[in-house]
Amino acid sequence: MTRTFAPSVAVRAVSRDIRAQEDSRRPAASPTNVVLIGPPGAGKGTQATRLARWLSVPTISTGDMLRRAVQSGSAIGLAVKAVLERGELIEDATMTEIVAARLAEADTEAGFVLDGFPRNVDQAVALDSLLEQRGDLIAVELAVPEGAIIRRLGQRRVCERCGRNADPLSGTPPKVCPCGGAFRQRSDDTETVIRERLRTYDRATKPLIDFYRQRHSLRAIDGTLAPDLVAAQISQIIDAVFDHAAS
Ligand code: ADP
Repeated sequence: MTRTFAPSVAVRAVSRDIRAQEDSRRPAASPTNVVLIGPPGAGKGTQATRLARWLSVPTISTGDMLRRAVQSGSAIGLAVKAVLERGELIEDATMTEIVAARLAEADTEAGFVLDGFPRNVDQAVALDSLLEQRGDLIAVELAVPEGAIIRRLGQRRVCERCGRNADPLSGTPPKVCPCGGAFRQRSDDTETVIRERLRTYDRATKPLIDFYRQRHSLRAIDGTLAPDLVAAQISQIIDAVFDHAAS
């Protein structure tokens, strides 16, 4: 793993189109810092995008940032490609550097929705240091059992251009996204790699749930519910936690 990349290369690749568009929540008195936790395929990406739009804060998806780095052929992309394809985790120092650089950007001052970071307790401790004096943080767990995950990920097709998921309920899955890009299977969505990602989740990421529970910052949601219901529950949680914190 090389450490020679400039974080800004990966960081510039982060999606910037997630801005206030519809039904925005009224501005909060303090930053709304949210972390989504859940196994691969729990729906974190979908919910992160919706939630960030509603809160008018950016989504920070480390998986998307890394995949874009791979596509761009940058130094960080070349360094992480094989790790991603094995379903293992990128080393903590690299990830923390990427996230630190992103959180240093001005658009995160009012808060953010983090999807994919932290992914283990050491990353959570690193995030705590990055967030000193930056308001409260709430971790929302999307709980989905393993059988459902394997089914979802095996069927998932993602637009290679804009990253949108093909609608899994639409009879014959479409091959082309409305943006014109092709829907393809992610290279880490094969059954062997999915199982490795689930093992990695159990070993490294699940302990995070206790970490946040112990400090009373964890809220859990049934991630098998329909996306609209999951989104509604997340908004209720955010309103309860952050309005309460502000009052
Ligand atoms: P998943 O659906 O498995 O949650 P993501 O799109 O979030 O997928 O991430 C894809 C891959 O990127 C992971 O399997 C891992 O290799 C790498 N990755 C993303 N975020 C992190 C992180 N915080 N720490 C280490 N590796 C990460």
